[in-house]
Amino acid sequence: MPDGSTVVPAILGSDKLMPSTLSGDKTDRPVYLSIGSLSKAKRQSVKTNRLILIGLLPKCPNRPKTHTKRFAYHESIAAILRALEEPANSGLTGLCADGRTHHAIPRIASFLADYPEQCTITMVKNGWCPRCEICPDDMPGFARRPRRCHPQRYLHLSTTAAEEVVLWKFANCPNFADAHAGCNIYSCMNVDRLHQLLKGLFKDHTWEWIVSFLKDIYGQEKGLDLIDERFSIIPRFSIICQIGAKLTRVKQWTGAEYKDLVKVWPAALAPLLEGHPDHFKFIISVTDFILITSYHSHTETTLKYLQDALSGISSNIHLFLPYRKSHSMSKIPKIHSLLRYIE
Ligand SMILES: [Zn+2]
Repeated sequence: MPDGSTVVPAILGSDKLMPSTLSGDKTDRPVYLSIGSLSKAKRQSVKTNRLILIGLLPKCPNRPKTHTKRFAYHESIAAILRALEEPANSGLTGLCADGRTHHAIPRIASFLADYPEQCTITMVKNGWCPRCEICPDDMPGFARRPRRCHPQRYLHLSTTAAEEVVLWKFANCPNFADAHAGCNIYSCMNVDRLHQLLKGLFKDHTWEWIVSFLKDIYGQEKGLDLIDERFSIIPRFSIICQIGAKLTRVKQWTGAEYKDLVKVWPAALAPLLEGHPDHFKFIISVTDFILITSYHSHTETTLKYLQDALSGISSNIHLFLPYRKSHSMSKIPKIHSLLRYIE
């Protein structure tokens, strides 16, 4: 990199968007661009142009083959980002906000997307990890694994060899990131607290396991009534939303409700778990993990707390094996993704 040049991290993002409730189930998939050189306050402010719409992905015909869908996706993103390919090598010279001329090298640094789209972007099978070479059967796998490398490493692998490092590979379907210098598309896959921790680890897994466990101890109906009763007696508090009397019957929770429930559930359920210290320890570890990951910055000490919480989850997760249909904790990418928060 030439002296005096600045790397400008490009942050890409894409998500399914429903343009209007009147348009039925039609969806659009816009692609946005932001840059990592902006301050956090500016990037979070809705008043700034911190996100720029750079393209809309085309729709695939009805019932496309997975190959067609992925090929169309990668070709489209490659076309949208073509203008960044050459500057990622040689850079751009332009006038900046400080009134001076600077030489900047834009590099793709992050791609914000949900898990199914992460699989499409990194070309791994659904259920596999987009960041490291772990086989779904070895999940949750909280020990560190070799991270996926630059796509060039996989370019020359045969389909069979690619499957050995748990990568889905199609002939004639290059990854759009192959053409971008300095981009490791696997490291660009970021954590997602709402879907991985609040909805995944907390609601879909731990909450369901604990409810099933309490139903086993106290009986089907009585177990649910006891849980509802415990949550209904939580006094009103300004920063906690009021939890209804029939919590266990609520089908869908909002993001704010997930966050509030995480704060109160160890205290609410503690009396019901008396005599089951390891189950309670698991709840505490899950709660610690979710709350510590919400910190805006971390130190060596907070990362150690996070590691301790992960160790607590790892050592007690086997208690809930009876509540998994497969009687195994493998093939849960959301639980495996906890490791990413410490890396
Ligand atoms: Zn992984």
